[in-house]
Amino acid sequence: MNDKTKGKELHDKLLKKDRNVWSVLPFGDEQGVFAFAEEYKKFLNQGKTERKAAQFMVRLAEESGFQPLEELIASGQTLAPGTKVYSLNRGKALIMAVIGRQPLEKGMNIIGAHLDAPRLDLKPNPLYEAEGLAWFKTHYYGGIKKYQWVTIPLALHGVIIKGDGTKIEVTIGEDEQDPVLIISDLLPHLAQEQMEKKMTEAITGEGLNLLIGSIPLREEDLKEKVKLAILEKLHGEYGIVEEDFISAELEAVPAGKARDVGLDRGIIGAYGQDDRVCSYAALRAILETGTPELTALGLFADKEETGSAGNTGMQSAFLENFVAEVIALTSGNYNELICRRALAGSRALSADVNAALDPNYEGVMEKMNASRLGGGVVLTKYTGSRGKSATSDANAEFVAYVRQLFNKKGIPWQTGELGAVDKGGGGTIAMFMANLGMDVLDCGVALLSMHAPMELASKGDVFVLYKGYKAFFQE
Ligand code: MN
Ligand code: MN
Repeated sequence: MNDKTKGKELHDKLLKKDRNVWSVLPFGDEQGVFAFAEEYKKFLNQGKTERKAAQFMVRLAEESGFQPLEELIASGQTLAPGTKVYSLNRGKALIMAVIGRQPLEKGMNIIGAHLDAPRLDLKPNPLYEAEGLAWFKTHYYGGIKKYQWVTIPLALHGVIIKGDGTKIEVTIGEDEQDPVLIISDLLPHLAQEQMEKKMTEAITGEGLNLLIGSIPLREEDLKEKVKLAILEKLHGEYGIVEEDFISAELEAVPAGKARDVGLDRGIIGAYGQDDRVCSYAALRAILETGTPELTALGLFADKEETGSAGNTGMQSAFLENFVAEVIALTSGNYNELICRRALAGSRALSADVNAALDPNYEGVMEKMNASRLGGGVVLTKYTGSRGKSATSDANAEFVAYVRQLFNKKGIPWQTGELGAVDKGGGGTIAMFMANLGMDVLDCGVALLSMHAPMELASKGDVFVLYKGYKAFFQE
């Protein structure tokens, strides 16, 4: 062998290979990738809030034979392997499971994503009039760059619970015939002072007010005639009064549908892909899971973007309670020790996104450990900030397990860190899952413009993510 071929041999044998998803795609046909993206776009368009995303998922789950946990409890039925069960927590968080052949005590294969996304929530007292215009005050939810939310069309989604307990569902701004809501911004001619401010201060939280009306009532001697006119309109449409806003959850999100991005249509641009991309891939994976050896569990949490607190967030007892109920239904009697073993003995993927290397902002990434759009599934061993603060840091053994699985199944993967050291950071639900004793690894796709009104994901990445999740459930 000459030196030239030896070098090539060493190269092939020793060096880590970075794969571009488009060069290894597609498990047979490239059309599968684009067809999958079309289905995913429907989910993005119909699931623009955690409630609507959960609704969409429940509909598909029921069509695939998943039964509500509450009904199974009421019927006293014993859950046999292959039984499909789901539980919807207050319309915002969801767990779906396919019962495995092995008892739960042996552990489960869990994929945990989140359904909430950064947005602007209406305040409890939102409605006011200023200078002959009516406005809604908002309180932003999750981490946003406030300047991105002004002068773009926003839609309003959510629920209003009236004084008598009636629930009103609201969707304004998604249909092309609908009006949209807008936050105004200062004209450049008068923005000299604003433009000299830091970006964190140029647009303030209290400045994120939605313009919602401009036509006053015709009566002469009334105050706040535009506000009253808007209330009259709302009363006519929904039967609500001003006090009803107190018991409402109304979310302003970017209006409009998911779009193809790029002349080759390789990218999806849409609001809320963190983390509806992993949610959808996990949904499709569990819908297509037959009777597995270990119970397959898809977890779709709420409140991740605000720290996973609250009874629909990952720090709640939702998962533990679900598993306890399933143990009671599969084994006939509940035993806490079995529940603890089931949780601690589980393998979990924390299904969430990572930041793709953006050539316009290279400085914040360390290239050797950054993920890329089109680089395949992203394995993120740890998140956190500074000295790995607040990360569960997956165990090397478990990273090896996932790596081997993906290599065996031909799933292209890459690794990612959330930015260069000391440039910032973030977290996922991984640490809360890990608290229950299970092994957890963050596993999702890379996004450009994460948390922006329009986030970007590679269609190729989305497709292999779904393939990877499916392989994980089936092991
Ligand atoms: Mn996320
Ligand atoms: Mn996020």
